[in-house]
Amino acid sequence: MIKPEAVAAGHTGKIIDMIISNGFKIVALKYTRLSAEEAGIFYEVHKERPFYGELVGYMASGPIIAAILEKDNAVEDFRKLIGATDPAQAEEGTIRKRFAESKAKNACHGSDSDENAEIEGNFFFSGRERF
Ligand code: ATP
Ligand code: MG
Repeated sequence: MIKPEAVAAGHTGKIIDMIISNGFKIVALKYTRLSAEEAGIFYEVHKERPFYGELVGYMASGPIIAAILEKDNAVEDFRKLIGATDPAQAEEGTIRKRFAESKAKNACHGSDSDENAEIEGNFFFSGRERF
């Protein structure tokens, strides 16, 4: 997912280009917006964390880009490409180093396991939206 502040700042094209040029195949792609309720469900794993309310409000604050990506070792390689959660810790050449504003507004989301990638893909896309 490309997060609201990165979409609003006009980084969508550059981020998608980085994703494709790093060997990921786009299986599904969508421009949409999460309601606060949907953002709350999407990030339910962080319900007990102190930043949960802020995170939900932020993720519902504007349109996002959702995608399903395919690659060998996709979860690990995509997390490497997006970089550390806190852009101050992110390596050169990562999406977050280039585009994140802060630890909260950090440009991009990546699934943390194959299992969650499947859940999150099903959250956004039907079968006939995947190629
Ligand atoms: P994501 O799940 O979005 O790919 P991540 O796996 O790198 O990010 P998580 O620990 O899963 O990091 O946190 C989810 C999101 O919550 C972060 O990407 C960030 O937007 C927000 N977040 C995490 N920690 C903080 C914090 N300390 N303060 C504010 N927001 C935070
Ligand atoms: Mg995470």
